[in-house]
Amino acid sequence: MTDSDIRGGNPMTTTDHAAVWGTKPDRPETWQPVTDLDGCSFSRYQVSDKGRARNPSKVLSCRAHKDGYVLVSMSCDHKDVCPRRGRHTFTLQKVVLTTFTGPRPAGQEACHSPLGPACNWWPEGVRWGTKPENHRDMREAGNAVIPEPYPCRNHERCGQMVKNPGRRCVAVCVPLVARHATEMLDRGMALRAVADRFGYKGTDWLYRLAVDHGYTGTREQAARQSPRLGDRVALWFYLRKVSDV
Ligand SMILES: [Zn+2]
Ligand SMILES: [Zn+2]
Repeated sequence: MTDSDIRGGNPMTTTDHAAVWGTKPDRPETWQPVTDLDGCSFSRYQVSDKGRARNPSKVLSCRAHKDGYVLVSMSCDHKDVCPRRGRHTFTLQKVVLTTFTGPRPAGQEACHSPLGPACNWWPEGVRWGTKPENHRDMREAGNAVIPEPYPCRNHERCGQMVKNPGRRCVAVCVPLVARHATEMLDRGMALRAVADRFGYKGTDWLYRLAVDHGYTGTREQAARQSPRLGDRVALWFYLRKVSDV
């Protein structure tokens, strides 16, 4: 197979492939009948695990979507009666994945390897995966077009995403920190100790957060205070309860 063969069905050339992976994958190309897509059948077509599609007479030429995805058009078996007129256009990744892996699992999306959206080789280049996995791939490929969602540091509990790694989400976890921090300050815990508790280097932001939530002491008071003897046991129990926010 030559580069131009590959190019006919996929903008990713074998040369690109070798440059990015550092090796030239040397494996046979496998063809499968295109599986049903969106309720239509395409029994005249086959798709390969190297990201090409063909009908009985030729390898189909593809075009690139403006985002870099490869698009392929095929006529369905019932084009005369199909309510979707004309040829049906799909992303090649969808045709490859649905045929070789199966339908998209609930909650997953088509993920590209760091090689980017033009590489539809299966399984090296495309797979079904979760949204965070997909965005990691897109960042590595330099194709992230929307703010990268990272899991909130408490993602297991809140299920939220954030723009920067290691942060807490504004929807659920920041308000929780604010509430807990305010409680701690109200129980006499020093501002620095509260900040440490939540892993913050500085104390400014946490202090402002607590004031927004009703803490009435000054910054200096917050910095100097320590729990009275009678509050310590109650505070200890409280801290145990909120230790994982
Ligand atoms: Zn159709
Ligand atoms: Zn969260």
